[in-house]
Amino acid sequence: MRFLAQDQLEAFLGHLAGEARVVAPVKGENGLVQFRPWTPGAAVELDVLLAKQSPKEFVFRQSETYLRFGYAMEGVAAAGAEATGDAAPAHAVLQVEPHNDAPPQVIFGLRPCDARGFVQMDNVFGGYGGFYFDPYYHAKREATTLVAVSCHAPRSTCFCTALGGSPAGTDGVDVLMTQVEGGFTAEAFTEKGERVLGFAGCSEASSDQRAAATAAHEQAVAQVEVPFALEGVRENLRANIEDPGWHDLAMRCISCGTCTYVCPNCYCFNITDEIVERKGERLRTWDNCFNPIYTLETSGHNPRDPKPNRFRNRFSHKFWYYPEKYDSLLCSGCGRCIMHCPTRIDIREVLQQMGAPRPVAAAAGEEA
Ligand code: SF4
Ligand code: SF4
Repeated sequence: MRFLAQDQLEAFLGHLAGEARVVAPVKGENGLVQFRPWTPGAAVELDVLLAKQSPKEFVFRQSETYLRFGYAMEGVAAAGAEATGDAAPAHAVLQVEPHNDAPPQVIFGLRPCDARGFVQMDNVFGGYGGFYFDPYYHAKREATTLVAVSCHAPRSTCFCTALGGSPAGTDGVDVLMTQVEGGFTAEAFTEKGERVLGFAGCSEASSDQRAAATAAHEQAVAQVEVPFALEGVRENLRANIEDPGWHDLAMRCISCGTCTYVCPNCYCFNITDEIVERKGERLRTWDNCFNPIYTLETSGHNPRDPKPNRFRNRFSHKFWYYPEKYDSLLCSGCGRCIMHCPTRIDIREVLQQMGAPRPVAAAAGEEA
């Protein structure tokens, strides 16, 4: 285990910035703490436990260009050729230029629940179980090193431990740092992490510093509440699919999509072609399952037109459909959706209610 003194943090980030883009939580002029590219002199904000949004946008971008294309006109006859009958008919030739930029980057200061969110998205885009492999996501993920900082003071909305996580969890983490007196302890879990800790300003952690890190981890774990038992949630969500409780819960939802955008693992997207005259780009852009036209089919049929069906989907996807496909959960218990929902919908309460045996549960059935 290594130790980085607090007064060496700026030099450490500067060292990393010499080889890669560094992304860190910083406070903007609007007072919001968000992950942004770090520049020398910028103060890293670690007192606020969670930046408003997770850093997923630096790997799974809000909007990214897949390819650029254009149409060149060919076969246009020279002036006067038409009169002689030598004119070749003009036709458009499609030109395509692939686009996949993935600069090396280090994301510093994310929390273990954010890192776990990347692991959950890795399953979806990384070809898990022979499913789809996405080269765009993969290139950025491979070029990214995650330097997490363990949680010193979990919030009342955190529930990572209920889902098998921890304020000092190491899923997906290349380096885990822990704030102790005078600086940080730092432990590498991958080769990428070892390279990061090659910084000359790091020293070997003393036994007292190691003990302080362990104590900080234990103290943080003890502060996280476990609001529900995970056992049986998947089966009960299946059994309760037609339960009228979904309607009652969805009444408060305004389909704003905030919960999906702040989530470290919600990954739904849309693909569009944006064209101006003869040039265009194919874009992948974040979508969200609360969007009324999210599942609208070209036939005009929309299996999730009623809001309760869309509302039900988010929770069922995270705790039923995704686990059946990937054998893990699609939630890391970060609590951001609880903090930022404008109508105070709490995923823990939804699971306590709809993930438990219900008195009015109708016959089980798969969602359309
Ligand atoms: S569903 Fe909510 S608590 Fe779970 S990872 Fe997403 S934002 Fe965090
Ligand atoms: S943030 Fe709240 S109101 Fe907005 S879509 Fe999510 S659950 Fe509904």
